[in-house]
Amino acid sequence: MEAFEIGNGHVWTHDLDGSVRFEKRSITFYDGRIAEGRHASGAIGASGRFVCPGFADAHFHLISLANKSLRVDLSGATGAADAVARLARGGGGGAATVGVDFDESDWAEPALPTRQDLNAISATQPVYARRVCCHVGVANDALLDLLAPRGLDRFVDRESGRITEDAVFEANRLTRPPDASVSAAMENAVRHLHSLGITKIHDIVDPDTIDVYVDGLKCLDRRPLRIDAYLHTSARDFAAACARLEKADASLVRAVGIKIFSDGSLGARTAALHQPYADADTRGELLVEAASLAVEIAACAEQGIECAIHAIGDRAMSTVLDAIEAAGEAGARVRIEHAEIIAERDIERIVRLGVPLVMQPNFVRNWGGEGGLYERRLGRERWQRHNPFATLLRAGARILFSSDGMPAGPLFGLNGATRHAIEAERIGAIDACTRYTIAERTLWSGGPAKGLVVGDPADVVILSGNPLFADLDGLRVINTFTGGRLVYEEAPPRWRQNFKSGP
Ligand SMILES: [Zn+2]
Repeated sequence: MEAFEIGNGHVWTHDLDGSVRFEKRSITFYDGRIAEGRHASGAIGASGRFVCPGFADAHFHLISLANKSLRVDLSGATGAADAVARLARGGGGGAATVGVDFDESDWAEPALPTRQDLNAISATQPVYARRVCCHVGVANDALLDLLAPRGLDRFVDRESGRITEDAVFEANRLTRPPDASVSAAMENAVRHLHSLGITKIHDIVDPDTIDVYVDGLKCLDRRPLRIDAYLHTSARDFAAACARLEKADASLVRAVGIKIFSDGSLGARTAALHQPYADADTRGELLVEAASLAVEIAACAEQGIECAIHAIGDRAMSTVLDAIEAAGEAGARVRIEHAEIIAERDIERIVRLGVPLVMQPNFVRNWGGEGGLYERRLGRERWQRHNPFATLLRAGARILFSSDGMPAGPLFGLNGATRHAIEAERIGAIDACTRYTIAERTLWSGGPAKGLVVGDPADVVILSGNPLFADLDGLRVINTFTGGRLVYEEAPPRWRQNFKSGP
């Protein structure tokens, strides 16, 4: 095993009090870890660059990213008619025509495409357009017919073709691209994450697609990425799903727990709020009760696995916290995903129970601006309390950052935290970067997070500028290393020299 040196960069360094600064020096990798000493057999110059811990995206859907490349991209659509036109053009003649990532909150006229619009594309094969949040979509008659016998009426509006929640998940399954294309597309998905400086993800994995997932992960030989998998299943079915995941490279991939839903999304107005939405007569939809959640939490604890619970609205959050309290000690390994709207009285509970919140600053950037989707859905007063990063950190809450794939990209997302539309909820760049990198390692211990310390895994990203001061949108990822292996290189370095190893 040879040592490898990154020379002459500005290296992320912790002072004795734990604060972060950049120090001009070299850093050595040995056997996949950060090492001491400088007798390297190979080197890469990083002069003027900033050497940071690799990014960890703590809530991701890798297979969805792979699938997206096989589906029609509706993210640039300017309205329903445009989305339908893109879908008609891009269908490609497969067994189903699927478009993803439309966002009507950007459209001048926010009406969704209709069942009839999609019937015009095909009267016989499934046609399906899914909103960026993945909690709402529109289906044509052929797809609605397939959904009809599955007992999902509660989530289907047959007249408009609008489907939500469980019906969306079922539609995803019914319109899945061929397995071979998905596993091939996963390599590109991993390469994309490396180009964004990501060395680890917490991935939500659907048991239905584990086999194709494992097949796609064969690319990790060439492109190592660390994956903590949360299986979208019940505690009871965890072991069976987990056994199928064991065929993946165990040095990189491990199944750590399950992921379950307690509500939907703000975009779809299915996130469960205490008070009605500002723009519709509904409080959203709670998908579980505290009592049954507490049972599931206890079942997870019995198996020694983690339990990640999706809760976007404040009513969902209160319910999940009730369940954690009811579960007592069994609630120690529950994390809450999204946590966008939180009742003031629940902040103290979050801190007291030590529940980690896995939040998405990119959502704030996408939809949290003045007059944006969140203000329209929540009204001005509640909007001012959405994604309260600063309030939570001041109170002592544990927070991790992630993207949920909308889109992937820590540098894009971090701006949503440092430039939160609500000024009082902005946090500093060090806090934000820490939450998108090393805080992930101390998720459960809650201890102080340090990075690039001797003995740490050599998961490193080299950035073009100082992330603590620069405009993050202007920064570029120059190199990414996972376990000391170069997995991404923006352009050939200015110089590279391989020294002969020897006595
Ligand atoms: Zn998600």
